[in-house]
Amino acid sequence: MVIVQRKSLSLAERLYLPEVLRGLSITFKKIFQPAITRQYPEEPLPTTEVTRGQPRLVVKDDGNIACVSCGLCEAACPAYAITIDGQETDRFIEREPERFDIDMLRCILCGFCEEACPKDAIFMSNELELADYSRSGLVYDMEKLKRPASALKGRMDYIKRINDRWQTSSST
Ligand code: SF4
Ligand code: SF4
Repeated sequence: MVIVQRKSLSLAERLYLPEVLRGLSITFKKIFQPAITRQYPEEPLPTTEVTRGQPRLVVKDDGNIACVSCGLCEAACPAYAITIDGQETDRFIEREPERFDIDMLRCILCGFCEEACPKDAIFMSNELELADYSRSGLVYDMEKLKRPASALKGRMDYIKRINDRWQTSSST
């Protein structure tokens, strides 16, 4: 039989005093350091062109939606968040969405819809905030999704730049 000899603890050790004092010294030091917490929402998160916020539909300068209702984004969406009903139009493009919904509760902000779109009609915006009082309010219809091209320009230019990079390297 092995008898383990335990070190006998002093009174301070039995009262956890060294640990308490070490903890208090850290707290005291931190009190005088600048705070690193963000006062959200007064201080919103910084966004850049790389930020992949919620997807939005491009409205061109002529006021028409760029989407031709091809359904590729709907097929590419891994979360089944997009629902599109197409309709005919007299415009040159022949088709446009009659209904274009994105269920923001399903959307995982993956950007696959942006990548799938052949018409540069859907882009990830820098809009990150999402709140409502009902689940149905978070199914965004076409009117809620539309954004002028100017509002998405930073992201559009960024996507064009990274796509051009692949075109350049594949042609060499
Ligand atoms: S970002 Fe991803 S999950 Fe969201 S709608 Fe587009 S493809 Fe679907
Ligand atoms: S892939 Fe583009 S053009 Fe096709 S339905 Fe989606 S947003 Fe419209």
